[in-house]
Amino acid sequence: MEKMRYDVVVVGGRVGGSTASLFASKNGLDVLMVEKNQEIGTPVQCAEATSSSTFKTLEMKPSPKYVCTEIKGADVYSPDGNHGHLEGGYAEGFILERKVFDKQLAIESAKAGTDIMVKTTVKNPIHKNGKISGVVAEHMGHAIEIEADLVIAADGIESQVAKMAGLNTHQTPKSLCSCAQYEMVGVECDPNYLQFYFGEKIAPGGYVWIFPKGDNIANVGVGVRSDTGTAYSFLKKFTANLNATPVELNMGGVPVYGPVDKTYADGLMVVGDAAGQVEPFTGGGIHVTAHCARIAGEVAAEAIEKGNTSGNFLKKYEKLWKKEVGQDLKQSLKYRKIMDRLSDEEMNILAKFLKEQDLESISKMSVLGFVRDYPQFLKLLKEIL
Ligand SMILES: Cc1cc2nc3c(=O)[nH]c(=O)nc-3n(C[C@H](O)[C@H](O)[C@H](O)COP(=O)(O)OP(=O)(O)OC[C@H]3O[C@@H](n4cnc5c(N)ncnc54)[C@H](O)[C@@H]3O)c2cc1C
Repeated sequence: MEKMRYDVVVVGGRVGGSTASLFASKNGLDVLMVEKNQEIGTPVQCAEATSSSTFKTLEMKPSPKYVCTEIKGADVYSPDGNHGHLEGGYAEGFILERKVFDKQLAIESAKAGTDIMVKTTVKNPIHKNGKISGVVAEHMGHAIEIEADLVIAADGIESQVAKMAGLNTHQTPKSLCSCAQYEMVGVECDPNYLQFYFGEKIAPGGYVWIFPKGDNIANVGVGVRSDTGTAYSFLKKFTANLNATPVELNMGGVPVYGPVDKTYADGLMVVGDAAGQVEPFTGGGIHVTAHCARIAGEVAAEAIEKGNTSGNFLKKYEKLWKKEVGQDLKQSLKYRKIMDRLSDEEMNILAKFLKEQDLESISKMSVLGFVRDYPQFLKLLKEIL
């Protein structure tokens, strides 16, 4: 079997993998990133919206090379068709061309010194003396043993590496949102505003989105709780009357019930979707993944420098990401749980209230009683609707 040796091997070559490897390489480590697909960034499994914080974390500029449109706000439709308009704030950001963005991020990482192997699938981690000390991968029918002081698992929602290393990263149908999306041509929409549609009939436990990419091209997608049916059938239904045609279909799951219990072990850190580092309310994971993966890359450098890749040292990674984004994720999960319990009727009342400050109608709602920080919840929903 062919053998290799690196300080760090990163499994997965999209936003989590490229960010972790970029910052590990920038800090002087000898890094290999391994991606099972033949091209970084494809197939896309994303609606491609992100906030400016992603670029800040990555120390990159929102270049027209990979930014399709700048987003200034959003239009949100409640189940009865009522409509609220949001300008700026949480809804500001960018629609990326992720095929280009993800590849550019990998290029930045390679420029910083990362070696990259594509069409290479990690089969299992190597356990030595009770710790993870590399992986076994397969490239074009050949097995390769890659020895490393540290493994960073950035292998997404289908992650096997962390599981095989003994961490509980299991997702249940309830904790996953299953998504289907067309990139469509001929969608008449404002290029600077997102559209969201809510309702049990069109997207149970989730929402429909129309994210504009300019020139009447848009990502039209549906996310539904995985235990409610297939997202694709809801997508077909919603797009039937759009008078637009698809040029791409992508499907995938998003973990929307918060991060996994533990994101490190001896010789291992887990980042991104593999760790459930996604905002539960919106399903947005790009900015959170980039944030946490950067921390993982920097902690990896410190661990290697100190010659200590034990779980005891690597828990610093978990402490840091929890300190920096943990509270936001917790809060977002609270809102997700509330939204999951709202009936269409309650959602209509809530939307109406937020538009008209109708206190009498809000008092009819059944589920809001359990929200302790009721004013903050309303404040957030006001910003969204
Ligand atoms: C339909 C959909 C729409 C979304 N829309 C948005 C959005 O608009 N905005 C937003 O912020 N987030 C969105 N998300 C979430 C976002 O895409 C993810 O949170 C983000 O891509 C996570 O990045 P990651 O690097 O952790 O994982 P991934 O992007 O899943 O990348 C994991 C990589 O690991 C590779 N891999 C897996 N196993 C192995 C292996 N054994 N060996 C080698 N390589 C392996 C995969 O091929 C893949 O390239 C969406 C998700 C979906 C499914």
